[in-house]
Parts: sequence; structure tokens; C-alpha cells
Amino acid sequence: MGAGPLTEECVAAGLAAPELRSAAPVRFFRSRLLEGLTRAHPACPYVLFAPVIGWALWAAAMAIGPRWGALGALFAGGWLSWTLLEYWMHRAIFHLSGETDARKVARFVLHTHHHRTPMDRERLAATPFQGGSLALLLAAIDGLVIGGGWQAALAGQIFGYLVYEAAHYAAHHSARPWFGARLRRHHLRHHARSGGNFGISIALWDVVFGTRLRGP
Ligand SMILES: [Zn+2]
Ligand SMILES: [Zn+2]
Repeated sequence: MGAGPLTEECVAAGLAAPELRSAAPVRFFRSRLLEGLTRAHPACPYVLFAPVIGWALWAAAMAIGPRWGALGALFAGGWLSWTLLEYWMHRAIFHLSGETDARKVARFVLHTHHHRTPMDRERLAATPFQGGSLALLLAAIDGLVIGGGWQAALAGQIFGYLVYEAAHYAAHHSARPWFGARLRRHHLRHHARSGGNFGISIALWDVVFGTRLRGP
């Protein structure tokens, strides 16, 4: 994206390089209807998915009974698996390698637009179509792999997804991010430089896979 390095002082002061303040929307389609489907209000994921977490925990308790230890372990395992999925999707899919036209377009529509206009609030969160498709895919995999009580793992994954959305929003739009300045710096370094800091709600997998960016 051609942004210069972001100084620690700049981030600490809640400021950012001019490229990181751009909120001018990028237009994907001429059609207003199609264009509208590519945008989502930042509150959208919480409104859509918080009730799903409640339903999933209830369904898991109905399936395996009030075994709180097992339900908690499934929830925690689901949350941890989400953080790995978040890292992998950002690294391998959103920053898809290759310079063919098809890959460039896919990369732009999925993610590069966010690097161009990171302050566009309506292109931060996943759209209902994207979030819903991913949730259905995860539900199918959990049901096949885990068996009884799989809904608790799904609840953990969706909870992790909502934490990710909140951390990303806070990194860009909160002068005093409730997720902490360190996590914010971690993500803003990803914007200012390239090739690392793919985790957003947690830096763990960048440490594990050696993609953590340090310094200014
Ligand atoms: Zn990125
Ligand atoms: Zn971002």
C-alpha cells in the first residue's frame, strides 16, 4: 500500500500516518444494490451472532447435559481454534499470493480495499453473507469432527470471531483501545509494513509461526 513506517509515538498518541486515516470509500460495483451488499455496519456481527452463541450453548447443554467442564473445554477449544483460523485466513487468503488478474481482484475485494481505506467503518466487519457462510461451514465441520456437544465449540468460535471484530474496530477507531495499546500497535504495524502480524485478536500465532513484526 506504500505507507511509510508508523512511529511508536504516532501510535501511542492515537494518531496515524495519513494513509491510515483515509475513510474515503472504495467503490466495488456500479450497481447501488450490489455495492450495498459489500458494506456492513460495524454493529452487524454482534446483532447477528450474539443470539447464535446463546442458542449454540443451549443446544450443547441439551445434547450432552449439564457437564460444565466438557462444555467449557469445548467452548475454550473453539475459541482457540478461531484464533488460528483468523491468523490463517488473514495470511493465506486475504493476502493471497500471486499476481494474476483473478488473484489481484479476489485479494482486493476480500481485503486489500481495507489496506487502502482502513478507516472506512462500513468495510471493517464481515458482511452478513460472509459471516453467515463461514458460520455454516464451521457448524458443518464441528458437527462432523466433534460429535455430541459440537455446538459449544461453535459458540467458542463465534465468540472468538466477535472478539476479533471488536479488536479490529478498536485498533482503528478507538483512541484508547480497550484491547490494549500493544495489540493495537501489533495490528497497525501490519498496515504500515508488510509480511507479518496477521493475528488481530491475539499475537500468539505470529509468535508461533515467526511472522511477528517488531520495532517502529
Ligand atoms: Zn491485512
Ligand atoms: Zn486493519
